[in-house]
Amino acid sequence: MKRLSILGSTGSIGRNVLRVVDQFPERFSAAALSAGRNVELLAKQVERFTPEMVAVLDEGVAQRLKGLVGGKRRLEILHGLDGYRTAAALDSSDLVVSAMVGSAGLLPTMAALEAGKSVALANKESLVMAGELVMGMARDKGASIIPVDSEHSAIFQCLAGHRREDVKEIVLTASGGPFLDKSVEDLDTITAEMALRHPTWQMGPKITIDSATLMNKGLEVIEAKWLFDVPLELIRVTIHPESIVHSMVVYQDGSVIAQLGLPDMRVPIAYALSYPERLPLGLPRADFVDIGSLTFREPDLERFPCLAMAFEACKIGMTMPAVLSAANEVAVDAFLNGRTGFRRIGDVVQQTMREHKPVSNPGLADVLEAAAWARRTAEEIV
Ligand code: MG
Repeated sequence: MKRLSILGSTGSIGRNVLRVVDQFPERFSAAALSAGRNVELLAKQVERFTPEMVAVLDEGVAQRLKGLVGGKRRLEILHGLDGYRTAAALDSSDLVVSAMVGSAGLLPTMAALEAGKSVALANKESLVMAGELVMGMARDKGASIIPVDSEHSAIFQCLAGHRREDVKEIVLTASGGPFLDKSVEDLDTITAEMALRHPTWQMGPKITIDSATLMNKGLEVIEAKWLFDVPLELIRVTIHPESIVHSMVVYQDGSVIAQLGLPDMRVPIAYALSYPERLPLGLPRADFVDIGSLTFREPDLERFPCLAMAFEACKIGMTMPAVLSAANEVAVDAFLNGRTGFRRIGDVVQQTMREHKPVSNPGLADVLEAAAWARRTAEEIV
């Protein structure tokens, strides 16, 4: 029995993790759950999965949860950053699923690694903001990081059994999002509601908007660089609207190894939970006759400048990727709340990056400070 600490259990990834747990109750159980403020769903999850600990955003949320679950079972209810960290480092958990949204995931992920826990990583921002520190911590503590993101899970699988020095290129595929074929003028008229309808993947609002701007792919590029310890120059992005090829690795001899399947987050999630075993998920098989054809094309950096910005931030390094990520969070939030337009998301990020003076060899405090600065600055720009 593998006991899981699931950070972000009420989000899109967290809910899918629990579907897998539900499907294989003899293999997995929930030792700890954590969420922000969605107490109604969290209370239902507590009822069904009986964790020993939960952590929520603040004391008010903790009180509301207490009211919902009552005193009928032994359940420790924690709150705030300390609560998240405690849930991440819980003694009785074997694997931590890091699936909180955004930069809030960084410190809990580090707490899990510091405690020597294996981490199934869905939170991109941990590696985007502090890749060197996070990977260094994992190495020091002998903790493994298994990717949950579909592209990184694919690359992880394509690299298995091969020599790292034989890798010539890593190709991250991108669906291109719902506005792939929209003109620049059309992009100006996009509303949050339109952007939240992703053609192939079911995801939370933040990542769905990030997919539409291609910032998500940019964050994934940075994530891949750290996760697989490859230079940025070896990573490229190809648009693949069908989302069947989840990513590929090109080797020195010209061989390309790709991982394919129908887009369903339960596949990479289950693989991260049970690695190296593969679970019989009972999902429909990919019927290639049905699929018919797979198409690929270059990303258009003019219409989707966020991708280019992410490459640039990664190249600059230091605290710039943390600034990119934090400014983007503010801009996406503003867009979702109708406070700024779709194309302004990239402008806000770019302007914030331009004003930032990156700190070299940043420690954790520098990264957090840069992110906080970026949030304030981006907010002003919005
Ligand atoms: Mg992805």
